[in-house]
Amino acid sequence: MPNSLPIPEAPDGHAWVRPESTPCPACLCHTERVCTEHDWHRASRPEYSDGTPYTEPCPCEEAAVPEPRTLTATLNGTTRDLPVILHRRGWLTGQLTTLNGHPGAVFTADIDDLDQPAHVRGRFEADPDGAHQDDTGTRWNLALQVSHGGRPGRITGWAPPRHADNAQPLLQQDEFGTG
Ligand SMILES: [Zn+2]
Ligand SMILES: [Zn+2]
Repeated sequence: MPNSLPIPEAPDGHAWVRPESTPCPACLCHTERVCTEHDWHRASRPEYSDGTPYTEPCPCEEAAVPEPRTLTATLNGTTRDLPVILHRRGWLTGQLTTLNGHPGAVFTADIDDLDQPAHVRGRFEADPDGAHQDDTGTRWNLALQVSHGGRPGRITGWAPPRHADNAQPLLQQDEFGTG
């Protein structure tokens, strides 16, 4: 869509305040850079001229869906193919994690103040020299520092193959932190 898109009349006599840099051609709320780089979680939303926040959902962000990939990861000499998620929104944008819940808790970690190691999910950051490679050829490094139930810990290796009666505590999504 052209950048000459007319600025719509806001209700109640408010005027739209457009971003200063090149606006996104597909939404009214972000710059082109923010939507191209999926950087919504760091972007500020526009406001009406009286300071009222613009609260309509961003169509670009709404359309951004996580992308499933397969990661071939080697840890302590053992290689596994992991189903992973490439995140497209939120603070994990551009990073991989293993799946939610039990299926993704494929690592063992030592957790501060816990007697027993826990099974935790993994998070991977893109790195051209990373030790692990996904099915698109992108290379990744495993983030060894984890948080489990609010306690810091460190991944030490693979979790053993899962059994039906395995009752390990689950890592919740927000236990990757909010930073
Ligand atoms: Zn946009
Ligand atoms: Zn937007």
